[in-house]
Amino acid sequence: MAMKLHEYQAKGVFADAGIPTPDSQLASDVDGAVAAAEEIGYPVAIKAQVQVGGRGKAGGIKLVDDADEAREAADAILGMDLKGYHVGSVLVEGAVDFTDELYVGITMDRGEGKPVAMVSTKGGVDIEEVAEEDPDAIAKEHIDPSFGMHPYQARKAVYDAGVDESVARDVSSVLTTLYQLWDDRDGADAEINPLMVTADDEVIAADAVMNIDEDALFRQPELAEMEAEAASTGDELEQKADEYGFDYVRLEGNTGIIGNGAGLVMTTLDLVDYYGGEPANFLDVGGGAKADRIANALDMVFSDDNVESVVFNIFGGITRGDEVAKGINEALEQFDEIPKPVVVRLAGTNWEEGMEILNEDLVTVEQTLEDAVQRAVEYAAEVSE
Ligand code: GDP
Ligand code: MN
Repeated sequence: MAMKLHEYQAKGVFADAGIPTPDSQLASDVDGAVAAAEEIGYPVAIKAQVQVGGRGKAGGIKLVDDADEAREAADAILGMDLKGYHVGSVLVEGAVDFTDELYVGITMDRGEGKPVAMVSTKGGVDIEEVAEEDPDAIAKEHIDPSFGMHPYQARKAVYDAGVDESVARDVSSVLTTLYQLWDDRDGADAEINPLMVTADDEVIAADAVMNIDEDALFRQPELAEMEAEAASTGDELEQKADEYGFDYVRLEGNTGIIGNGAGLVMTTLDLVDYYGGEPANFLDVGGGAKADRIANALDMVFSDDNVESVVFNIFGGITRGDEVAKGINEALEQFDEIPKPVVVRLAGTNWEEGMEILNEDLVTVEQTLEDAVQRAVEYAAEVSE
């Protein structure tokens, strides 16, 4: 699984590697934000630090021209709820006067089993739509990880994307550095969107995304520390999970996942992915899945606005399947209307009794994990159509 760094952290990593970034300072209160803006000089961008994309469109980024505006913007953004994430800090950053917004990114192409470098001249806030509606506008170059990225591959991707000649060299060099970072830092994704081009043909990373392969964090103590810092600043859902005593990680998809045991939850996550869905979270309720724990788990998952369906994958051990089933029934009976469809698969001790107990007016029961996951993914897809 991937852990996300905040923009300011990713920018720090990129800047250390020589990628140009704007002057910036992190602030966690309004006075601090205004002081930072004064020091950097106007205009500045005030940007919510939450580990989720699309902040601009959600009102988490404001450009300001003076101290009054800076105060007002910082006051509005700090503490706001942005796509379910609590904004605990802002990055105050010298605004870039740009002529073009490019996109550059490195990710793992799972289908090909190889990393892929991507470049587009249609960077900026609509890149997701570009990827869907006009995929050819994103030039791609697969990389053989044992050889690394050849300079000519970077140049080819940049050329194929139609990047202006005046900045092609600099963009290629940013892309090469980005791949190096991705490779060295066990990245799952490294992305700059937008990579801004200025009137005097400079390129500058106005945004930064760095997701790290969680399994590799032990090799990356520096990043692990950043990750811990990122996790502790902000996300309301993750705070809630701490209170409930769940292992929880929020992801970006819409299929909620609840299971007991990390391995079981991971398997469920992989299957959601396999069936073309996108996991909304990792949630391990741990041992003893009694009614109150189940209710808390559902509360967590339903609190995530992105969630469109939920799949339970519970293996009865010490907690028997019939108890779990009762828990699920009781938890769901508390709703006048179930917010999103819930699919359940039980296995292990007393699973058959459990299946019988489950109230099929409230949940969809499936015999196998594959069927349960597929059903949940279908439900989620129906809504998003
Ligand atoms: P995201 O929405 O979370 O991806 O945040 P970004 O940092 O990518 O910012 C979104 C958009 O805000 C960018 O595509 C720009 O159009 C705009 N923006 C961000 N920073 C600046 C800046 O320094 N100057 C200007 N003019 N626009 C900016
Ligand atoms: Mn962006």
